[in-house]
Amino acid sequence: MGTFSIYNSMNIISSFPMSKVTSFKCGGLAKWFVCPDDLKDFESILKLHNGKKFYILGNGSNTLCPDDGYDGLVISTSNLKKIKKDGNIVVCECGVNLFALNDFLRENGLGGLEWSYGIPGTVGGATIMNSGAFEKDISEFVEKVEIFDDGKVIVLDKNEISFSYRKSSLKDFPIFRVWLKLFFSEKETIKELQDFYFEKRNSKQPLNYPSAGSIFKRGEDFFPAEIIDKLGLKGYKIGGAQISEKHSGFIINQGEATATDIMKLINLIEDTVFNKKNIKLEREIIIMK
Ligand SMILES: Cc1cc2nc3c(=O)[nH]c(=O)nc-3n(C[C@H](O)[C@H](O)[C@H](O)COP(=O)(O)OP(=O)(O)OC[C@H]3O[C@@H](n4cnc5c(N)ncnc54)[C@H](O)[C@@H]3O)c2cc1C
Repeated sequence: MGTFSIYNSMNIISSFPMSKVTSFKCGGLAKWFVCPDDLKDFESILKLHNGKKFYILGNGSNTLCPDDGYDGLVISTSNLKKIKKDGNIVVCECGVNLFALNDFLRENGLGGLEWSYGIPGTVGGATIMNSGAFEKDISEFVEKVEIFDDGKVIVLDKNEISFSYRKSSLKDFPIFRVWLKLFFSEKETIKELQDFYFEKRNSKQPLNYPSAGSIFKRGEDFFPAEIIDKLGLKGYKIGGAQISEKHSGFIINQGEATATDIMKLINLIEDTVFNKKNIKLEREIIIMK
């Protein structure tokens, strides 16, 4: 790794190990890596880097970096963490972690997002992915989103954005801030709900191993985990990667998995499900390329 300063004296790091910033804890090196300190820096980087290859990284909890690395600039939103509220509207910078957001909402008596307690992502990543759980998703709470479009920072109203299951029309736009509309609730009720959802998550998911959550999206009439189970793939291993014994929709890193092991396992699941069930699984995780 090496560093040099550019763009308002921010440090750009060369050859940065993506295993340090992705929840799978594996993968190769990013050619360049930067963490803007505020939205102005974020905008400057995007303008100066216009037309060149970049990847915006939130918490890396839905991202796999291949072992041969990423040949571009990774812009991490880890320093963009400001939250403020105006009544029941909360404005979050894109790098706000969903745990921190849930703490803020509980402290301020704002309910609605308790189901997201335990999703290890950022508000930016969750909005792009339309993250959800327990039959709810973040789009139900989004009022406005500030994005970077064609060299300008603009604010879109919720009516100008389309969301569907783990998808949004914002996919190709850097998100700066998100306005969320919550409802007033009692702190105790919020805490009870957060604990309830966290416990439910903990009982079903292999949270003691690195993973990226569900690898595949739910189908209209099927759950990938159920099909993977029925095909006898639960527990199957390639190198250090394993289809979780606890939740067959998850691939876990048992310690020494490479991104190649994980990719091989993903391909094996896809091929087996297609050959045996004639179902084409759709990936939920994003593979950097
Ligand atoms: C144990 C575990 C449990 C999980 N449970 C769930 C669950 O219940 N429901 C669910 O939906 N997901 C779940 N996930 C997946 C993941 O946590 C969510 O999708 C999360 O919201 C992704 O956020 P992130 O910041 O980590 O995204 P990243 O992995 O950093 O990025 C994901 C995508 O969003 C883009 N992105 C990130 N920030 C921005 C931004 N500011 N502007 C533009 N693009 C951006 C990235 O470029 C990439 O395309 C789980 C993951 C794990 C590891």
